[in-house]
Amino acid sequence: MIKDTQGRFLRNLRVSVTDRCNLRCAYCMPEEEYVWLPRDEILHFEEIGRLVDIFITLGVDKVRLTGGEPLLRRDLPRLIRLLAAKPALRDLAITSNGVLLSEQAPSLKDAGLHRVTVSLDTLRPARFAALTRRDTHAQVLEGLAAVARAGFTDTKIDTVVMRGVNDDELADLIEFGKGFPAEVRFIEYMDVGGATRWSMDKVVSRTEMLDRLTQHYGPIEPVVETTTAPADRYRLPDGTIFGIISSTTAPFCSDCDRSRLTADGLWYLCLYAQKGIDLRGPLRGGASDDELRALITGRWEARTDRGAEDRLAQRDRTPLLQVERLKRDPHLEMHTRGG
Ligand code: SAM
Repeated sequence: MIKDTQGRFLRNLRVSVTDRCNLRCAYCMPEEEYVWLPRDEILHFEEIGRLVDIFITLGVDKVRLTGGEPLLRRDLPRLIRLLAAKPALRDLAITSNGVLLSEQAPSLKDAGLHRVTVSLDTLRPARFAALTRRDTHAQVLEGLAAVARAGFTDTKIDTVVMRGVNDDELADLIEFGKGFPAEVRFIEYMDVGGATRWSMDKVVSRTEMLDRLTQHYGPIEPVVETTTAPADRYRLPDGTIFGIISSTTAPFCSDCDRSRLTADGLWYLCLYAQKGIDLRGPLRGGASDDELRALITGRWEARTDRGAEDRLAQRDRTPLLQVERLKRDPHLEMHTRGG
């Protein structure tokens, strides 16, 4: 297991399998046009498998597939089968917007996927259409139902909370989650690359969410646990658990063990990092496993990133990056890094 300069292990790898998405969420892809990664640069499944094997030897035991929308990647169950065959992976999950889940949930389960997280920001179809610029709310709900039917457990629903957009739905979403069952996690709106319309006044902080939920439900208790999961978890008086990911107002950099691989093989050590490490070049250029391992180890051991804390320290916080910069380097986009 390798550690960075702050003593943080490398345990958690998020693998983006495509930068394409079938939604256009206001907090992630608000523009009309995007620059896409060239197709011939997208890693093949065998290339992803080889990199994951190397990461496993360095301590990674959790992999999450993401995107763009990962279910848009053709033949995804083949990649899942390939990864699920690695016994060292204790957790193999996917984060999806759910639109294509109703057709794909059974084949994902069959292929050996462990867990599913569905991003769902609202229970109201008209609001969904306004927020995502697509009219597929019913498909997402069908997708969630299909996840349970396919036999998945430990399902999560991730909701980005935006003031004046969906912050009146916190309790409704928790109630909805009870029905599946799925644990709801509220994510503070983050000023990541791609969130070009971000402003602090649209962020609903963890403190405010807890205040509002306490008014609705009565006393809420923190769940005491020692994990490096990003969400702080809480228990309602009836025992229901929900989470809050407070990356904007109370970041968890000090125990961040995650890194991100883009679909074209750039490796990012922080969601806010401006530069990635090219693994595709050496991989396709004939580097041996030992050479790749040495490259990854050297970079992780030198890691100092505390991106979300650096952002918190900014006065007059404005969007991290302007559209022109994102167009010049689409790797800076949240939808390329996978969130
Ligand atoms: N398409 C998939 C999905 O919707 O889950 C996977 C990729 S998406 C980029 C991963 C997660 O990032 C989603 O839960 C999304 O809501 C979240 N996300 C994107 N932009 C965000 C932002 N500005 N602040 C907080 N979360 C964000």
